[in-house]
Amino acid sequence: MLKVSLHNSVVLKSFIFQISLSQIEVANTCYTHNAYPNIQYLSPSPLSSLHLPSPYPLSISYLRSVDELLKKYLERGKNNKKENKKLLLSWAKRKDLDQLFHAKHEELFEEADCLKCANCCKTTSPIFRDVDIDRIASHLRMKPSEFTSKNLHIDEDGDWVLNSSPCLFLDEDNYCKIYEVRPKACREYPHTDRKNMSQIMDLTFRNTTVCPAVAEMVERIKREIV
Ligand code: SF4
Ligand code: SF4
Repeated sequence: MLKVSLHNSVVLKSFIFQISLSQIEVANTCYTHNAYPNIQYLSPSPLSSLHLPSPYPLSISYLRSVDELLKKYLERGKNNKKENKKLLLSWAKRKDLDQLFHAKHEELFEEADCLKCANCCKTTSPIFRDVDIDRIASHLRMKPSEFTSKNLHIDEDGDWVLNSSPCLFLDEDNYCKIYEVRPKACREYPHTDRKNMSQIMDLTFRNTTVCPAVAEMVERIKREIV
């Protein structure tokens, strides 16, 4: 049961939400990319029809469900493309960049449920290194050369990538069919908990238009430092 107190009905500035623990189910690990525990919010919010002005932080409290929230995060990432590109490149000089991203990464992947999204698996390809190809081919009882000729090609950067999207290993419930042996790039996606974030600001910018969690990390960092 969700209890809502509205403290300022004119400007909708201050909501206090009390979410009872019975409403939250702690589910298993993410079966697409990362190994964070998922939290699924089970009851729809009575405020789901509210349209909030853009400067307000989006939160689970305002929206119907985690998947709706993720869609909003991504939409905002795409709308803020121009501003984000400039900003992220300028952040590359910050000494506290790892700290900022790592904290927001933890926060977001506690909230986000990748099984409700899978946008990375649906729209982009991981890089398959030789060790990934060997491991996956062996799992599928194929020769590595058979696996690559059927499913992969070399892109303009010289990397093995999928021939098409969505990924052939994504099932209809957004689970990865080869989770245990998936490529390293999938395990590490969206790379926002790695060291030396300053080296991948361009990639992180591109991921603001693919991964709702990254889009929202950037928004939260902006609110903290800008
Ligand atoms: S795009 Fe981001 S939030 Fe969506 S499944 Fe991939 S890692 Fe998770
Ligand atoms: S192998 Fe495919 S389905 Fe599995 S995590 Fe990677 S991109 Fe997603």
